[in-house]
Amino acid sequence: SRQFTRPLNDLANQFNMILSAVAGAERVFQIMDEESEEKNEQRAKSISTLTGDIVFDQVSFSYENEVATLNSVSFHVYPGQMVALVGPTGAGKTTVLSLLSRFYDADEGTIYVDGTDIKNITRKSLRRHMAFVLQDSVLFRTTVRENIRYGKLDATDEEVEEAAKQANAHDFIMKLSKGYDTVLTSEGSDLSQGQKQLLSIARAMLADPRLLILDEATSSIDTITEMKISEALSKLMRGRTTFVIAHRLNTIQHADLILVLKAGMVIEKGTDQELMKQNGFYADLVQTQRQKGVM
Ligand code: ADP
Repeated sequence: SRQFTRPLNDLANQFNMILSAVAGAERVFQIMDEESEEKNEQRAKSISTLTGDIVFDQVSFSYENEVATLNSVSFHVYPGQMVALVGPTGAGKTTVLSLLSRFYDADEGTIYVDGTDIKNITRKSLRRHMAFVLQDSVLFRTTVRENIRYGKLDATDEEVEEAAKQANAHDFIMKLSKGYDTVLTSEGSDLSQGQKQLLSIARAMLADPRLLILDEATSSIDTITEMKISEALSKLMRGRTTFVIAHRLNTIQHADLILVLKAGMVIEKGTDQELMKQNGFYADLVQTQRQKGVM
């Protein structure tokens, strides 16, 4: 089944599948091997609430039988905390989040969500408590209003607009030709990267999840939109357990926990202050980004 899902297996594609599923197109999940899905789900229970306490206990995983992609990864994130995943491309950051979303299950070790082995929680109920704000957010060829409503299908128009206001998206939406009724192209090519991010933040606001997955934008966004995004994100993150794949380290200085990954292993973990004091890999990264003027 892993081989079969491989072409779909970048973070954005996986999460697009979730969104489509939320939107009612459940058949996308059938792309994944149904038999193993059913087998895995037999003992799984649906969870109705979630506080967002996440434990990785010596989690190892490999795609196909190659080298370990994750090697004995352990950490504990408490409800409402922000954890940042840092490290070079290919280090395993995305894979950590794929396991947390149960796109795959660990080969060894255990992931606990609120103290329950994640394998005993149905994918569907788990993902109902999660929202994703990714670099390439999925937009559908429908109105801005409906695009935001994917966060909560039964939301009223008022709720949609309130979420957009909270996300700092309302002002730019009102400037579109037909406001909330403006129909987007499926790639959202009529919007800037920053505007797409704001829409996806609005959608997540509306979803009101306990677990939030953020993949920071790497492409350049103008300073004003950037400020709007970061303000909206801090509002969104408040009180929710948040995982951020961080590209620019200045945004994670206040993270409760920074996990530095390299070749599938957590080589350093702690707060910015703690890691700076250690003067290791993280401190080097920060130094490099400062020199390049990125932060
Ligand atoms: P990061 O997010 O830190 O860039 P990833 O978790 O995406 O790292 O990737 C970790 C390693 O796993 C990389 O070597 C990558 O090539 C590999 N990998 C990722 N997805 C797959 C897949 N579906 N099949 C095989 N290998 C994969």
